[in-house]
Amino acid sequence: MLFLGTGTSHGVPMIGCECAVCRSTDPRDVRLRPSIYIDVPEHAAILVDTGPDLRQQALTHRLSRLDAIIFTHSHADHVLGLDEVRRFNAIMGRPIPSYASRETWEVLRQTFYYAFDGVVRKGGGVPELVPHEISGPFSIGGVRIVPVLVWHGDMPVLGFRLGSFAYLTDCNRIDEASWPLLDGLDTLVIDALRDRPHSTHFSVNEALDVVARLKPRRTLTTHMTHDLGHAATCARLPQGVELAYDGLVLDVRVDVG
Ligand SMILES: [Zn+2]
Ligand SMILES: [Zn+2]
Ligand SMILES: [Zn+2]
Repeated sequence: MLFLGTGTSHGVPMIGCECAVCRSTDPRDVRLRPSIYIDVPEHAAILVDTGPDLRQQALTHRLSRLDAIIFTHSHADHVLGLDEVRRFNAIMGRPIPSYASRETWEVLRQTFYYAFDGVVRKGGGVPELVPHEISGPFSIGGVRIVPVLVWHGDMPVLGFRLGSFAYLTDCNRIDEASWPLLDGLDTLVIDALRDRPHSTHFSVNEALDVVARLKPRRTLTTHMTHDLGHAATCARLPQGVELAYDGLVLDVRVDVG
């Protein structure tokens, strides 16, 4: 899997900020809005979320294949690049199967009304999706995906487990029923916004509490603000825990059948 973006909703650097991290020359301190791309050769290339930086992310990483999209939730920093899917419709020659919770689809249908209302408009095209509502584990191209309910304040968000890998962005609480779904992970990606507590995101210490309970072999944090410089923060994290960064590629084992 590839990290397309590991920043919080503002991105890093943040507009108008002159702090040390926003002015850093370390490329790992440049964070686009959060998204990952999971390419399982001969099975499926899956995009998690369509953030506002999707065009730039796709160009940077020369993404030219997209078999499906899965959405974590409907916040702007996770969906506002949906219109860029038009290019993938052209490349793939078909609507893109897309998976989200009922709540997320409700918001997507309002925010991107023109993609769903069936009205034929002159001129430009619209992103074409085949909507699927997530109600339990599902498969894309034989790749098995287990939705994992987490909480983002009082908003439900879906994390996703694929084999021994789990992606849990935008959360500050794991649903009680979800803990067993996260047993035996090799690689965990988890929200860690900053050091100070926040009402809807895990802080670094709160994320470390989850890591201590789940004991994955390796943990990468995501959705970081400019409070967390890459090098300095990694230097104080425990063994096996690191900040992710845009462009990082991890080999993960997924279940295919
Ligand atoms: Zn800053
Ligand atoms: Zn969010
Ligand atoms: Zn977010």
